[in-house]
Amino acid sequence: MTQAYPLQFKPEMKERIWGGRALEQFGLELPDGAIGEGWMIGDHPNGTTKVMNGSLAGLGLDEIRERYGREFFGTKGYVENGRFPLLIKLLDCNDDLSIQVHPTDSYEKLPKGELGKTEMWYILAAEPGAKIIYGLKEGVDRPALAAAIEEGRVMDCLQEVPVEAGDAFYIPAGTVHALCAGVVVAEIQQNSDTTYRVFDYNRPGLDGKLRELHVEDSLNVTAYEGAGASRMKTDGIGGNEWLAIAESPYFIVEKGLVRAPWKLTTTTESFVILVIAEGSGTLSWDGGKQDVKAGECFLLPASLGGYELDGHLTVLRSVTP
Ligand code: ZN
Repeated sequence: MTQAYPLQFKPEMKERIWGGRALEQFGLELPDGAIGEGWMIGDHPNGTTKVMNGSLAGLGLDEIRERYGREFFGTKGYVENGRFPLLIKLLDCNDDLSIQVHPTDSYEKLPKGELGKTEMWYILAAEPGAKIIYGLKEGVDRPALAAAIEEGRVMDCLQEVPVEAGDAFYIPAGTVHALCAGVVVAEIQQNSDTTYRVFDYNRPGLDGKLRELHVEDSLNVTAYEGAGASRMKTDGIGGNEWLAIAESPYFIVEKGLVRAPWKLTTTTESFVILVIAEGSGTLSWDGGKQDVKAGECFLLPASLGGYELDGHLTVLRSVTP
């Protein structure tokens, strides 16, 4: 057995046409350019994060999986011949993202080796008046959506929802959605990078050309009757208390406010991912202790056992169900 400890990874920053510099507020080092995504914990061909703390520093999450998969990921979190089940990102939406939809695991035209993508968002910061696109308007069916795309008026079919910091959104595969300008988001999702673009505001990509749309795939995977998407306000919870903010077949996410020393424990069934959404404090475990602050993400091995959070923190805790 390896001595387990909370793993912190060096983020993989991704330039996006809709990105900006907002992730600097977390003290993260950004390369030049419009940085839209920080992949904080990833085990994907398009981004594999490497451990940056402790005795396992330098190992990629893929190598951690190969060496310690079952012990660290847990009996439910470890999938034989599969990658780490989740992908954790911070997003800076300095401009509107394309209108998009993700497939389920069962879509027959998925790229080889890819999974579907069910995700959730927790809004870390929002400018006044910020909004997102979240689901179809009542009664929009496939022919109506197809006609609207064809005629360049897809926005008429979509619901706009105002957002503020602390809002949580569950976005099951099949939900048409888009983050819009002025929000910073923590995203917890299935480990997948498959997106079908419905509409991109006729705007050029980083290379100056229009980005490809995936109209047929989008129409195929959209859940016209709704896919169980839900949104919630998450204020009003007390100190050292968890509130479930997303429950899916792939992840359970809870929000907690640390206001005093809080003793917690992992189980042998699943790893725990902690995303520090606000504040600063400490994370201690059998054999170690470290400072934590907003914007940091940790992977706690299933075999870690007891740990304690202290300080003044807002934390998102994710496990596999
Ligand atoms: Zn998405």
